[in-house]
Amino acid sequence: MTRSEELYARALRVAPGGVHSPVRAFRSVGGTPIFMSGGHGARLRDVDGREFLDFCMAFGPMILGHGNEAVRTAVIEALDRGWSLGTAEPYSLELGEYITSRIPWVESLRFVNSGTEAVMSALRVARAATGRSKLLKFEGCYHGHADAMLLRAGSGLADAPLPDSAGLGALAASETLVAPLDDAAALEKVFEAHGAQIACVIIEPMPANYGLLPQRNEFLQHLARLTQRHGALLLFDEVISGFRVGFQGYAPIAGVTPDLVTYGKIIGGGFPVGAYGGRRDLMQLVAPVGPVYQAGTLSANPVAMCAGLAMLRALDDGSVYAQLEARGAQLERELEGVPGLILQRQASVFWLCLAGSAEAARRTRAEHAILRSPAHYPEGCAKRYVAIYHPLLARGIYLAPSAFEVGFISAAHTSADISALATAIRATCAATA
Ligand SMILES: *Cc1c(COP(=O)(O)O)cnc(C)c1O
Repeated sequence: MTRSEELYARALRVAPGGVHSPVRAFRSVGGTPIFMSGGHGARLRDVDGREFLDFCMAFGPMILGHGNEAVRTAVIEALDRGWSLGTAEPYSLELGEYITSRIPWVESLRFVNSGTEAVMSALRVARAATGRSKLLKFEGCYHGHADAMLLRAGSGLADAPLPDSAGLGALAASETLVAPLDDAAALEKVFEAHGAQIACVIIEPMPANYGLLPQRNEFLQHLARLTQRHGALLLFDEVISGFRVGFQGYAPIAGVTPDLVTYGKIIGGGFPVGAYGGRRDLMQLVAPVGPVYQAGTLSANPVAMCAGLAMLRALDDGSVYAQLEARGAQLERELEGVPGLILQRQASVFWLCLAGSAEAARRTRAEHAILRSPAHYPEGCAKRYVAIYHPLLARGIYLAPSAFEVGFISAAHTSADISALATAIRATCAATA
């Protein structure tokens, strides 16, 4: 028995599935979850002393790699000053100023403890601002686990029937409309039928929670025009894409200025932080200024704020993004021609979509140069991922334990690390074909 297996047996008695977030349990790839004792740079080490090249990167936050020295130093200095004050303090001010001065459409913001909380709070603001109750989201987009967002929500829920969770209030499901991605005609129909009741449209401008589904700028711009025409607010959920595809996230790439934005993951430097922000008039609706209540005992935790600031400072000059783009392009080149593989990539985010057969991949590719909606997926793509998952682990490659989770490249990944990933995928795909 490995040490991981021992710990897993104990963990099963302590927590549902032995984990504190479902995808960590390895349910969709089978086998025992690997207990990691720590990470450094681009590598994770498990409790049995094995080392893995990590391309999951804690599901997104670790854009500088594990144990980054600048973040580590900031955290240690913050610890020495005291780690929870429950008062006004200068650290969230500094991070808040840093962000608002660099992202003009974030005129004002509020820090919370997770992406889920950010989305939940921003939606509350949107409903208060418009006096409307309906929300529109997109199929395959994940926005955290607030009741209203657990419909057609992506990876962790990909196998579940509708709605995607038990225990939701009846209202949650009836107030949330769901539209397909990349389908302007369907979108117009939803607005024709419900436009006057929609408080807010929420979208991941770069959907990355059910595979990676790059959207056309025209689609996002059309969406922005429709929301404006119908008096609804547009919320860009940039919890993954914020500070990842560029410091300002996806909005400038899409050429769209959202009314509200949510952040998480990178913003806390690997500590639990989320934020929501946007137009000042909307944010002025939040307590204590306005009537929308939202609070948090541990919100804007000084250690997390300092970690986030150190991370954002390291990203600000753009050189990290240029390096990440080069690594991503390298991965694309080195994986070209792998039978059955459709590699989707935007910046340092990639998704290995493995079709059931090389023929299925060819057919899909002929129809869709880029997959933009779950409706475009080839047959059998989840099964192939499961088949290569454990062989890749055996070669020391750690990917997210789900076929529909994306991979992340960090600043700690060298060109040799990218080659090691490509070589392992190529060999594993050949051996399991
Ligand atoms: C991860 C994620 C969330 C949820 O954030 P948590 O911190 O896990 O609550 C929300 N939206 C998007 C787009 C995400 O990727």
